[in-house]
Amino acid sequence: MLDTIIRGAHIADGSGKSIYQADLGIMGDKIAEIGNIKASAKTIIDANGLILSPGFVDVHTHYDAQLTWDKYASPSPSLGATTVVIGNCGFSIAPCPPEQRRRISNNLAEVEGMSISALEAGIDWNFESFGEYIELLERKGSYPNVACFVGHSAVRTAVLGREASERLATDDELLIMSQIVSESMQSGAIGFSSSQSLNHNGANGVPMPSRLASKDEFKSLVAAIGECGHGVFQLTVGPHAEMSFLEDIAQENNCIVMMTAALHNEAFPDRAIGMLNGALDAQRRGNGLWAQVSCQPLSMDFSLTSAFPFQPFEAWKELGKLNKTELSKILKSIDYRQKFKKELMSPARGKIFYGDWSKVSIAQVSSRKFQDMEGLSISELSKQLDKHPVDLVFDIALNDNLETIFNAALLNSDEDVVADFLIHEASLISLSDAGAHLRYMCDAGYGLHLLGHWVRNKKIMSLEDAIRRLTTLPASLFNIKDRGHLLPGKFADLVLFDKDEINLGPLKRFDDLPNGESRMMREPIGVEGVWVNGQMVFDGKQYKNIPSPGKILRA
Ligand SMILES: [Zn+2]
Repeated sequence: MLDTIIRGAHIADGSGKSIYQADLGIMGDKIAEIGNIKASAKTIIDANGLILSPGFVDVHTHYDAQLTWDKYASPSPSLGATTVVIGNCGFSIAPCPPEQRRRISNNLAEVEGMSISALEAGIDWNFESFGEYIELLERKGSYPNVACFVGHSAVRTAVLGREASERLATDDELLIMSQIVSESMQSGAIGFSSSQSLNHNGANGVPMPSRLASKDEFKSLVAAIGECGHGVFQLTVGPHAEMSFLEDIAQENNCIVMMTAALHNEAFPDRAIGMLNGALDAQRRGNGLWAQVSCQPLSMDFSLTSAFPFQPFEAWKELGKLNKTELSKILKSIDYRQKFKKELMSPARGKIFYGDWSKVSIAQVSSRKFQDMEGLSISELSKQLDKHPVDLVFDIALNDNLETIFNAALLNSDEDVVADFLIHEASLISLSDAGAHLRYMCDAGYGLHLLGHWVRNKKIMSLEDAIRRLTTLPASLFNIKDRGHLLPGKFADLVLFDKDEINLGPLKRFDDLPNGESRMMREPIGVEGVWVNGQMVFDGKQYKNIPSPGKILRA
Protein backbone atom coordinates (compact mmCIF):
# COMPACT_ATOMS: atom_id res chain seq x y z
CA MET A 1 0.00 0.00 0.00
CA LEU A 2 1.54 3.27 -1.15
CA ASP A 3 0.76 6.70 0.33
CA THR A 4 -0.11 8.42 -2.95
CA ILE A 5 -0.39 7.38 -6.59
CA ILE A 6 -0.62 9.96 -9.36
CA ARG A 7 -2.12 7.99 -12.25
CA GLY A 8 -1.59 8.54 -15.96
CA ALA A 9 0.72 11.52 -15.67
CA HIS A 10 2.79 12.83 -18.57
CA ILE A 11 6.13 12.71 -16.85
CA ALA A 12 8.80 15.32 -17.62
CA ASP A 13 11.43 13.85 -15.32
CA GLY A 14 13.79 16.84 -15.18
CA SER A 15 16.64 15.22 -17.13
CA GLY A 16 15.51 16.67 -20.45
CA LYS A 17 14.49 13.29 -21.89
CA SER A 18 11.17 12.99 -23.75
CA ILE A 19 7.93 13.13 -21.81
CA TYR A 20 6.31 9.71 -21.27
CA GLN A 21 3.06 8.56 -19.69
CA ALA A 22 3.18 6.60 -16.42
CA ASP A 23 1.88 6.37 -12.87
CA LEU A 24 4.04 7.75 -10.06
CA GLY A 25 3.81 6.25 -6.58
CA ILE A 26 4.92 8.00 -3.38
CA MET A 27 5.86 6.31 -0.11
CA GLY A 28 6.86 8.55 2.77
CA ASP A 29 8.98 11.39 1.41
CA LYS A 30 10.31 9.50 -1.63
CA ILE A 31 9.22 8.38 -5.07
CA ALA A 32 8.59 4.63 -4.67
CA GLU A 33 7.78 3.61 -8.20
CA ILE A 34 7.23 5.00 -11.70
CA GLY A 35 5.47 2.88 -14.33
CA ASN A 36 2.26 0.91 -14.59
CA ILE A 37 1.53 0.67 -10.86
CA LYS A 38 -0.66 -2.24 -9.73
CA ALA A 39 -0.57 -1.45 -6.00
CA SER A 40 -3.23 0.69 -4.36
CA ALA A 41 -2.71 3.80 -2.24
CA LYS A 42 -4.35 5.90 0.48
CA THR A 43 -4.66 8.79 -1.98
CA ILE A 44 -5.12 8.35 -5.72
CA ILE A 45 -4.95 11.31 -8.09
CA ASP A 46 -6.00 11.07 -11.71
CA ALA A 47 -3.54 13.15 -13.71
CA ASN A 48 -5.05 12.41 -17.08
CA GLY A 49 -3.39 14.72 -19.58
CA LEU A 50 -1.43 16.77 -17.06
CA ILE A 51 2.34 17.16 -16.87
CA LEU A 52 4.11 15.94 -13.74
CA SER A 53 7.56 17.43 -13.25
CA PRO A 54 10.01 17.86 -10.39
CA GLY A 55 9.38 20.95 -8.25
CA PHE A 56 11.47 23.93 -9.30
CA VAL A 57 14.72 24.70 -7.50
CA ASP A 58 14.72 28.49 -7.07
CA VAL A 59 18.34 29.41 -6.35
CA HIS A 60 17.93 33.18 -6.09
CA THR A 61 15.58 34.22 -3.30
CA HIS A 62 15.61 36.56 -0.30
CA TYR A 63 13.32 34.76 2.17
CA ASP A 64 15.86 35.09 5.02
CA ALA A 65 13.67 37.39 7.12
CA GLN A 66 10.27 36.17 5.92
CA LEU A 67 10.95 32.52 6.83
CA THR A 68 11.17 33.49 10.48
CA TRP A 69 7.46 34.49 10.40
CA ASP A 70 6.05 32.70 7.33
CA LYS A 71 6.59 28.95 7.10
CA TYR A 72 5.01 28.88 3.62
CA ALA A 73 7.69 31.10 2.07
CA SER A 74 4.71 32.39 0.16
CA PRO A 75 4.10 32.66 -2.69
CA SER A 76 6.90 30.38 -3.99
CA PRO A 77 5.41 26.89 -3.37
CA SER A 78 2.11 27.85 -5.04
CA LEU A 79 4.18 28.95 -8.05
CA GLY A 80 5.92 25.58 -8.33
CA ALA A 81 9.11 26.12 -6.31
CA THR A 82 9.73 23.26 -3.86
CA THR A 83 13.28 24.28 -2.91
CA VAL A 84 14.43 27.85 -2.29
CA VAL A 85 17.99 29.10 -1.79
CA ILE A 86 18.08 32.13 0.50
CA GLY A 87 20.76 34.65 1.47
CA ASN A 88 21.69 35.75 -2.05
CA CYS A 89 23.78 38.83 -2.91
CA GLY A 90 25.43 38.78 0.53
CA PHE A 91 22.22 39.71 2.34
CA SER A 92 21.68 36.90 4.83
CA ILE A 93 20.41 38.01 8.25
CA ALA A 94 22.88 35.69 9.98
CA PRO A 95 25.31 35.91 11.57
CA CYS A 96 24.03 38.89 13.54
CA PRO A 97 25.13 40.02 17.01
CA PRO A 98 22.19 41.66 18.87
CA GLU A 99 23.69 45.16 18.58
CA GLN A 100 23.68 44.90 14.76
CA ARG A 101 20.04 43.80 14.33
CA ARG A 102 18.82 47.28 13.58
CA ARG A 103 21.57 47.91 11.02
CA ILE A 104 20.95 44.57 9.27
CA SER A 105 17.19 45.19 9.03
CA ASN A 106 17.54 48.83 7.93
CA ASN A 107 19.99 47.86 5.20
CA LEU A 108 17.82 44.95 4.08
CA ALA A 109 14.73 47.15 3.95
CA GLU A 110 16.52 49.57 1.67
CA VAL A 111 18.48 47.24 -0.61
CA GLU A 112 15.72 44.69 -1.14
CA GLY A 113 12.74 47.04 -1.03
CA MET A 114 11.15 45.50 2.05
CA SER A 115 8.94 47.29 4.53
CA ILE A 116 10.98 48.20 7.62
CA SER A 117 7.91 48.09 9.83
CA ALA A 118 7.14 44.55 8.60
CA LEU A 119 10.76 43.51 9.27
CA GLU A 120 10.77 45.08 12.74
CA ALA A 121 7.50 43.43 13.67
CA GLY A 122 8.21 40.13 11.93
CA ILE A 123 11.80 38.96 12.32
CA ASP A 124 12.39 36.41 15.07
CA TRP A 125 15.90 37.24 16.28
CA ASN A 126 16.42 34.14 18.38
CA PHE A 127 19.87 33.51 16.94
CA GLU A 128 23.29 35.07 16.66
CA SER A 129 25.48 32.70 14.70
CA PHE A 130 24.68 31.30 11.29
CA GLY A 131 24.38 27.80 12.79
CA GLU A 132 21.80 29.06 15.31
CA TYR A 133 19.84 30.68 12.48
CA ILE A 134 19.66 27.40 10.55
CA GLU A 135 18.53 25.62 13.72
CA LEU A 136 15.83 28.26 14.24
CA LEU A 137 14.49 27.70 10.73
CA GLU A 138 14.58 23.96 11.31
CA ARG A 139 12.56 24.31 14.54
CA LYS A 140 10.01 26.59 12.91
CA GLY A 141 9.64 24.39 9.82
CA SER A 142 8.89 25.44 6.27
CA TYR A 143 6.75 24.30 3.36
CA PRO A 144 9.53 24.33 0.75
CA ASN A 145 13.01 22.92 1.30
CA VAL A 146 15.47 25.66 2.19
CA ALA A 147 19.20 26.00 1.52
CA CYS A 148 21.06 29.01 2.92
CA PHE A 149 23.98 31.11 1.77
CA VAL A 150 26.05 32.84 4.40
CA GLY A 151 26.15 36.43 3.19
CA HIS A 152 29.25 38.61 2.93
CA SER A 153 27.52 41.82 4.06
CA ALA A 154 26.16 40.11 7.18
CA VAL A 155 29.58 38.65 8.03
CA ARG A 156 31.26 42.03 7.50
CA THR A 157 28.63 43.81 9.62
CA ALA A 158 29.04 41.27 12.42
CA VAL A 159 32.79 42.00 12.54
CA LEU A 160 33.14 45.68 11.53
CA GLY A 161 29.78 47.12 12.66
CA ARG A 162 29.04 50.54 11.19
CA GLU A 163 32.47 50.69 9.54
CA ALA A 164 31.54 47.68 7.40
CA SER A 165 30.15 50.13 4.86
CA GLU A 166 33.11 52.50 5.15
CA ARG A 167 36.49 50.85 4.89
CA LEU A 168 38.76 47.92 4.09
CA ALA A 169 39.10 45.21 6.69
CA THR A 170 42.31 44.81 8.70
CA ASP A 171 44.23 41.52 8.61
CA ASP A 172 42.83 40.58 12.01
CA GLU A 173 39.26 41.32 10.94
CA LEU A 174 39.79 39.32 7.77
CA LEU A 175 40.91 36.36 9.84
CA ILE A 176 37.79 36.54 12.02
CA MET A 177 35.55 36.83 8.92
CA SER A 178 37.20 33.76 7.37
CA GLN A 179 36.57 31.81 10.56
CA ILE A 180 32.90 32.85 10.52
CA VAL A 181 32.50 31.75 6.89
CA SER A 182 34.20 28.41 7.72
CA GLU A 183 31.98 27.81 10.74
CA SER A 184 28.89 28.73 8.72
CA MET A 185 29.88 26.27 6.01
CA GLN A 186 30.35 23.58 8.66
CA SER A 187 26.91 24.40 10.08
CA GLY A 188 25.40 23.70 6.68
CA ALA A 189 25.59 26.81 4.48
CA ILE A 190 25.28 25.95 0.80
CA GLY A 191 27.88 28.55 -0.06
CA PHE A 192 28.98 32.14 0.30
CA SER A 193 27.25 35.07 -1.39
CA SER A 194 28.34 38.63 -2.09
CA SER A 195 27.75 41.71 -4.18
CA GLN A 196 29.85 44.36 -5.89
CA SER A 197 26.85 45.97 -7.57
CA LEU A 198 26.76 49.77 -7.50
CA ASN A 199 22.97 49.51 -7.18
CA HIS A 200 23.23 47.74 -3.82
CA ASN A 201 22.89 50.48 -1.23
CA GLY A 202 21.73 50.21 2.36
CA ALA A 203 19.99 52.63 4.71
CA ASN A 204 20.73 56.31 4.01
CA GLY A 205 22.48 55.36 0.78
CA VAL A 206 25.55 53.72 2.34
CA PRO A 207 27.12 51.06 0.12
CA MET A 208 26.25 47.52 1.16
CA PRO A 209 29.28 46.31 3.16
CA SER A 210 30.58 43.74 0.64
CA ARG A 211 31.18 46.56 -1.84
CA LEU A 212 34.06 47.73 0.37
CA ALA A 213 35.90 44.41 0.13
CA SER A 214 39.29 44.16 -1.56
CA LYS A 215 40.20 41.38 -3.97
CA ASP A 216 42.20 39.75 -1.19
CA GLU A 217 39.14 39.73 1.04
CA PHE A 218 37.12 37.97 -1.65
CA LYS A 219 39.92 35.47 -2.16
CA SER A 220 40.32 34.58 1.50
CA LEU A 221 36.59 34.33 2.21
CA VAL A 222 35.89 32.14 -0.80
CA ALA A 223 38.89 30.03 0.23
CA ALA A 224 36.85 29.13 3.31
CA ILE A 225 34.31 27.39 1.08
CA GLY A 226 37.10 25.85 -0.99
CA GLU A 227 38.52 24.21 2.14
CA CYS A 228 35.12 22.65 2.79
CA GLY A 229 35.28 20.86 -0.54
CA HIS A 230 31.81 21.98 -1.59
CA GLY A 231 29.79 25.14 -1.95
CA VAL A 232 28.81 27.82 -4.40
CA PHE A 233 30.15 31.37 -4.52
CA GLN A 234 27.34 33.67 -5.69
CA LEU A 235 28.38 37.18 -6.66
CA THR A 236 26.27 40.04 -7.94
CA VAL A 237 28.88 41.59 -10.17
CA GLY A 238 29.57 45.29 -10.63
CA PRO A 239 30.11 47.08 -13.93
CA HIS A 240 33.81 46.21 -13.96
CA ALA A 241 33.56 42.52 -13.18
CA GLU A 242 36.81 40.79 -14.01
CA MET A 243 35.95 37.44 -15.45
CA SER A 244 39.54 36.19 -15.21
CA PHE A 245 39.60 36.93 -11.47
CA LEU A 246 36.34 35.02 -10.97
CA GLU A 247 37.54 32.15 -13.10
CA ASP A 248 40.72 31.93 -10.99
CA ILE A 249 38.56 31.78 -7.86
CA ALA A 250 36.48 28.96 -9.37
CA GLN A 251 39.62 27.06 -10.34
CA GLU A 252 41.55 27.56 -7.08
CA ASN A 253 38.62 26.47 -4.93
CA ASN A 254 37.16 23.93 -7.33
CA CYS A 255 33.78 25.55 -6.77
CA ILE A 256 30.96 26.97 -8.83
CA VAL A 257 31.05 30.76 -9.22
CA MET A 258 27.53 31.97 -9.97
CA MET A 259 27.48 35.46 -11.46
CA THR A 260 24.40 37.63 -11.07
CA ALA A 261 22.98 39.02 -13.26
CA ALA A 262 23.16 38.78 -17.05
CA LEU A 263 20.25 41.13 -17.78
CA HIS A 264 20.00 42.81 -21.15
CA ASN A 265 20.48 46.56 -20.98
CA GLU A 266 19.85 48.47 -24.19
CA ALA A 267 22.31 51.13 -23.07
CA PHE A 268 25.13 48.56 -22.66
CA PRO A 269 24.19 45.82 -25.11
CA ASP A 270 27.51 43.91 -24.88
CA ARG A 271 27.64 43.46 -21.13
CA ALA A 272 25.27 40.56 -20.45
CA ILE A 273 26.18 38.52 -23.50
CA GLY A 274 29.84 39.13 -22.61
CA MET A 275 29.25 37.56 -19.20
CA LEU A 276 27.51 34.56 -20.73
CA ASN A 277 30.14 33.96 -23.39
CA GLY A 278 32.92 34.50 -20.84
CA ALA A 279 31.31 31.91 -18.58
CA LEU A 280 31.05 29.47 -21.46
CA ASP A 281 34.75 29.92 -22.33
CA ALA A 282 35.66 29.31 -18.68
CA GLN A 283 33.52 26.16 -18.64
CA ARG A 284 35.34 24.90 -21.74
CA ARG A 285 38.58 25.31 -19.78
CA GLY A 286 37.03 23.17 -17.06
CA ASN A 287 36.13 25.97 -14.62
CA GLY A 288 32.66 26.35 -13.10
CA LEU A 289 31.67 29.87 -14.06
CA TRP A 290 27.92 30.43 -14.66
CA ALA A 291 25.67 33.44 -15.18
CA GLN A 292 22.16 33.82 -13.81
CA VAL A 293 19.59 35.10 -16.29
CA SER A 294 15.97 36.05 -15.94
CA CYS A 295 13.03 35.15 -18.16
CA GLN A 296 11.14 38.21 -16.96
CA PRO A 297 11.78 41.88 -17.71
CA LEU A 298 13.44 43.65 -14.79
CA SER A 299 11.34 46.49 -13.70
CA MET A 300 12.03 49.54 -11.65
CA ASP A 301 9.59 51.62 -9.66
CA PHE A 302 9.50 55.39 -9.71
CA SER A 303 7.29 58.29 -8.84
CA LEU A 304 7.24 61.63 -10.64
CA THR A 305 9.13 63.22 -7.76
CA SER A 306 12.03 60.88 -8.51
CA ALA A 307 11.49 59.74 -12.07
CA PHE A 308 14.65 57.85 -12.88
CA PRO A 309 13.56 56.79 -16.41
CA PHE A 310 12.75 60.40 -17.39
CA GLN A 311 15.82 62.05 -15.87
CA PRO A 312 18.04 61.70 -18.97
CA PHE A 313 15.58 63.85 -20.98
CA GLU A 314 16.46 67.52 -21.46
CA ALA A 315 12.88 68.53 -20.67
CA TRP A 316 13.00 66.67 -17.37
CA LYS A 317 16.34 68.06 -16.21
CA GLU A 318 14.82 71.38 -15.14
CA LEU A 319 12.38 69.52 -12.84
CA GLY A 320 15.02 67.77 -10.76
CA LYS A 321 15.28 70.18 -7.83
CA LEU A 322 11.66 71.32 -7.58
CA ASN A 323 9.48 70.76 -4.54
CA LYS A 324 6.05 69.14 -4.88
CA THR A 325 4.11 72.37 -5.34
CA GLU A 326 6.47 73.71 -7.99
CA LEU A 327 6.55 70.34 -9.75
CA SER A 328 2.74 70.08 -9.77
CA LYS A 329 2.49 73.49 -11.35
CA ILE A 330 4.83 72.56 -14.22
CA LEU A 331 3.21 69.15 -14.80
CA LYS A 332 -0.14 70.89 -15.24
CA SER A 333 1.22 73.24 -17.90
CA ILE A 334 0.07 72.43 -21.45
CA ASP A 335 3.25 74.01 -22.86
CA TYR A 336 5.48 71.86 -20.72
CA ARG A 337 3.55 68.73 -21.70
CA GLN A 338 3.99 69.59 -25.39
CA LYS A 339 7.73 69.99 -24.91
CA PHE A 340 8.08 66.66 -23.11
CA LYS A 341 5.92 64.82 -25.66
CA LYS A 342 7.98 66.25 -28.48
CA GLU A 343 11.26 65.11 -26.96
CA LEU A 344 9.84 61.64 -26.33
CA MET A 345 9.07 61.31 -30.02
CA SER A 346 12.74 61.47 -31.00
CA PRO A 347 14.76 60.22 -28.04
CA ALA A 348 18.53 60.42 -28.21
CA ARG A 349 20.41 57.12 -28.15
CA GLY A 350 21.58 55.63 -24.89
CA LYS A 351 18.53 56.60 -22.87
CA ILE A 352 16.97 53.86 -20.80
CA PHE A 353 13.42 54.89 -21.68
CA TYR A 354 12.45 55.22 -25.35
CA GLY A 355 8.81 56.20 -24.99
CA ASP A 356 7.53 52.61 -25.11
CA TRP A 357 4.55 53.00 -22.75
CA SER A 358 3.63 49.32 -22.92
CA LYS A 359 6.65 48.84 -20.63
CA VAL A 360 5.33 51.28 -18.04
CA SER A 361 2.52 50.34 -15.67
CA ILE A 362 0.84 51.62 -12.54
CA ALA A 363 2.34 49.75 -9.61
CA GLN A 364 0.81 51.42 -6.61
CA VAL A 365 -1.55 54.32 -5.99
CA SER A 366 -1.89 56.10 -2.69
CA SER A 367 -5.52 57.07 -3.15
CA ARG A 368 -7.88 54.10 -2.89
CA LYS A 369 -10.11 55.51 -5.61
CA PHE A 370 -7.48 54.66 -8.27
CA GLN A 371 -6.85 51.17 -6.94
CA ASP A 372 -8.46 49.44 -9.93
CA MET A 373 -5.72 50.88 -12.10
CA GLU A 374 -2.92 49.04 -10.25
CA GLY A 375 -1.17 46.59 -12.55
CA LEU A 376 -2.48 48.16 -15.78
CA SER A 377 -0.06 49.32 -18.45
CA ILE A 378 -0.04 52.96 -19.52
CA SER A 379 -0.49 52.09 -23.21
CA GLU A 380 -3.50 49.91 -22.41
CA LEU A 381 -5.13 52.59 -20.25
CA SER A 382 -4.27 55.29 -22.74
CA LYS A 383 -6.20 53.43 -25.45
CA GLN A 384 -9.08 52.71 -23.10
CA LEU A 385 -9.42 56.34 -22.04
CA ASP A 386 -8.33 57.81 -25.37
CA LYS A 387 -5.75 60.00 -23.71
CA HIS A 388 -2.09 60.67 -24.54
CA PRO A 389 0.19 58.56 -22.29
CA VAL A 390 2.03 61.64 -21.01
CA ASP A 391 -1.23 63.36 -20.04
CA LEU A 392 -2.40 60.14 -18.45
CA VAL A 393 0.74 59.64 -16.34
CA PHE A 394 0.85 63.29 -15.26
CA ASP A 395 -2.88 63.44 -14.45
CA ILE A 396 -2.95 60.25 -12.42
CA ALA A 397 0.07 61.40 -10.42
CA LEU A 398 -1.32 64.93 -9.92
CA ASN A 399 -4.61 63.51 -8.64
CA ASP A 400 -2.72 61.15 -6.34
CA ASN A 401 -0.61 63.78 -4.57
CA LEU A 402 2.37 62.80 -6.79
CA GLU A 403 2.63 59.58 -4.79
CA THR A 404 1.71 57.14 -7.56
CA ILE A 405 4.38 54.51 -8.07
CA PHE A 406 4.89 53.59 -11.70
CA ASN A 407 6.76 50.56 -12.86
CA ALA A 408 9.03 50.56 -15.90
CA ALA A 409 10.33 47.33 -17.44
CA LEU A 410 13.67 48.78 -18.38
CA LEU A 411 16.06 45.87 -18.39
CA ASN A 412 15.76 42.53 -20.09
CA SER A 413 12.70 43.51 -22.06
CA ASP A 414 14.01 42.93 -25.60
CA GLU A 415 12.57 39.47 -26.14
CA ASP A 416 14.77 38.44 -29.07
CA VAL A 417 17.90 39.05 -27.04
CA VAL A 418 16.47 37.51 -23.87
CA ALA A 419 15.53 34.36 -25.83
CA ASP A 420 19.21 33.87 -26.74
CA PHE A 421 20.19 34.23 -23.08
CA LEU A 422 17.63 31.68 -21.93
CA ILE A 423 18.90 28.97 -24.28
CA HIS A 424 22.58 29.85 -23.70
CA GLU A 425 24.70 26.93 -22.49
CA ALA A 426 26.23 28.91 -19.61
CA SER A 427 23.02 30.45 -18.30
CA LEU A 428 21.00 29.47 -15.27
CA ILE A 429 17.40 30.72 -15.44
CA SER A 430 16.58 32.10 -11.99
CA LEU A 431 16.65 35.59 -10.47
CA SER A 432 13.17 35.43 -9.00
CA ASP A 433 14.37 37.63 -6.11
CA ALA A 434 11.40 36.06 -4.29
CA GLY A 435 10.81 37.65 -0.92
CA ALA A 436 12.29 40.99 -2.05
CA HIS A 437 11.02 44.17 -3.72
CA LEU A 438 7.57 43.29 -2.40
CA ARG A 439 6.25 46.80 -2.69
CA TYR A 440 5.98 46.72 -6.44
CA MET A 441 6.85 43.36 -7.95
CA CYS A 442 6.65 39.60 -7.69
CA ASP A 443 8.86 37.52 -9.98
CA ALA A 444 8.63 34.40 -7.78
CA GLY A 445 6.66 32.66 -10.54
CA TYR A 446 9.52 32.72 -13.08
CA GLY A 447 9.10 28.98 -13.67
CA LEU A 448 5.46 29.33 -14.70
CA HIS A 449 6.34 32.30 -16.89
CA LEU A 450 9.08 30.27 -18.61
CA LEU A 451 6.68 27.39 -19.32
CA GLY A 452 3.73 29.53 -20.40
CA HIS A 453 5.30 32.45 -22.19
CA TRP A 454 8.62 31.17 -23.54
CA VAL A 455 7.84 27.50 -24.13
CA ARG A 456 4.15 27.46 -25.11
CA ASN A 457 3.76 30.86 -26.76
CA LYS A 458 7.22 31.61 -28.15
CA LYS A 459 8.50 28.02 -28.54
CA ILE A 460 12.12 28.94 -27.88
CA MET A 461 12.88 25.60 -26.23
CA SER A 462 11.19 22.28 -25.59
CA LEU A 463 9.11 21.74 -22.49
CA GLU A 464 11.54 19.00 -21.45
CA ASP A 465 14.56 21.33 -21.72
CA ALA A 466 12.79 24.15 -19.86
CA ILE A 467 11.99 21.79 -16.99
CA ARG A 468 15.58 20.52 -16.95
CA ARG A 469 16.75 24.12 -16.58
CA LEU A 470 14.37 24.65 -13.64
CA THR A 471 15.21 21.40 -11.84
CA THR A 472 18.19 19.08 -12.44
CA LEU A 473 20.46 21.89 -13.68
CA PRO A 474 20.22 24.10 -10.57
CA ALA A 475 20.14 21.05 -8.27
CA SER A 476 23.39 19.70 -9.73
CA LEU A 477 25.17 23.09 -9.73
CA PHE A 478 24.20 23.68 -6.10
CA ASN A 479 25.02 20.10 -5.14
CA ILE A 480 21.46 19.50 -3.93
CA LYS A 481 21.25 15.73 -3.75
CA ASP A 482 18.34 13.52 -4.81
CA ARG A 483 16.07 16.37 -5.86
CA GLY A 484 15.05 17.83 -9.18
CA HIS A 485 14.85 14.42 -10.90
CA LEU A 486 11.85 12.08 -10.98
CA LEU A 487 13.30 8.63 -10.36
CA PRO A 488 12.47 5.94 -7.81
CA GLY A 489 14.38 6.61 -4.59
CA LYS A 490 14.53 10.39 -5.11
CA PHE A 491 12.58 12.83 -2.93
CA ALA A 492 9.00 13.40 -4.05
CA ASP A 493 9.11 17.14 -4.80
CA LEU A 494 6.57 17.50 -7.60
CA VAL A 495 4.48 19.91 -9.64
CA LEU A 496 1.39 18.80 -11.56
CA PHE A 497 0.24 21.26 -14.21
CA ASP A 498 -1.69 21.77 -17.43
CA LYS A 499 0.81 22.76 -20.15
CA ASP A 500 -1.91 24.48 -22.18
CA GLU A 501 -2.96 26.66 -19.26
CA ILE A 502 0.20 27.26 -17.25
CA ASN A 503 0.72 30.95 -16.59
CA LEU A 504 0.96 33.69 -14.00
CA GLY A 505 -1.94 35.73 -12.74
CA PRO A 506 -1.77 39.55 -12.56
CA LEU A 507 -0.01 41.43 -9.77
CA LYS A 508 -2.34 41.84 -6.81
CA ARG A 509 -1.93 43.60 -3.51
CA PHE A 510 -2.25 41.65 -0.24
CA ASP A 511 -2.15 43.22 3.22
CA ASP A 512 -0.68 40.16 4.92
CA LEU A 513 2.82 41.15 6.03
CA PRO A 514 3.58 41.66 9.75
CA ASN A 515 2.15 44.89 11.10
CA GLY A 516 -0.47 44.85 8.31
CA GLU A 517 2.02 45.94 5.67
CA SER A 518 1.16 45.12 2.09
CA ARG A 519 2.95 43.31 -0.71
CA MET A 520 2.38 42.42 -4.34
CA MET A 521 1.92 38.80 -5.33
CA ARG A 522 0.86 36.78 -8.33
CA GLU A 523 -1.24 33.64 -8.30
CA PRO A 524 -0.61 30.55 -10.43
CA ILE A 525 -2.73 29.57 -13.41
CA GLY A 526 -2.82 25.93 -14.52
CA VAL A 527 -1.06 24.47 -11.47
CA GLU A 528 -3.05 21.48 -10.15
CA GLY A 529 -0.85 20.36 -7.27
CA VAL A 530 2.54 20.82 -5.61
CA TRP A 531 4.21 18.25 -3.35
CA VAL A 532 7.22 18.65 -1.07
CA ASN A 533 8.82 15.49 0.34
CA GLY A 534 5.76 13.45 -0.61
CA GLN A 535 3.20 15.79 1.00
CA MET A 536 0.79 17.86 -1.05
CA VAL A 537 1.40 21.47 0.06
CA PHE A 538 -0.76 23.26 -2.52
CA ASP A 539 -3.82 21.87 -4.31
CA GLY A 540 -4.04 24.42 -7.12
CA LYS A 541 -6.23 26.78 -5.11
CA GLN A 542 -4.79 26.99 -1.63
CA TYR A 543 -2.13 25.76 0.75
CA LYS A 544 -2.93 22.52 2.58
CA ASN A 545 -2.95 22.77 6.32
CA ILE A 546 -0.34 20.16 7.25
CA PRO A 547 2.81 19.94 9.40
CA SER A 548 5.63 21.63 7.45
CA PRO A 549 7.23 19.02 5.15
CA GLY A 550 10.23 21.12 3.95
CA LYS A 551 13.76 20.28 5.02
CA ILE A 552 16.75 22.48 5.64
CA LEU A 553 19.27 21.30 3.08
CA ARG A 554 22.64 21.31 4.80
CA ALA A 555 25.44 21.14 2.29
ZN1 LIG B 1 19.35 39.21 -5.04
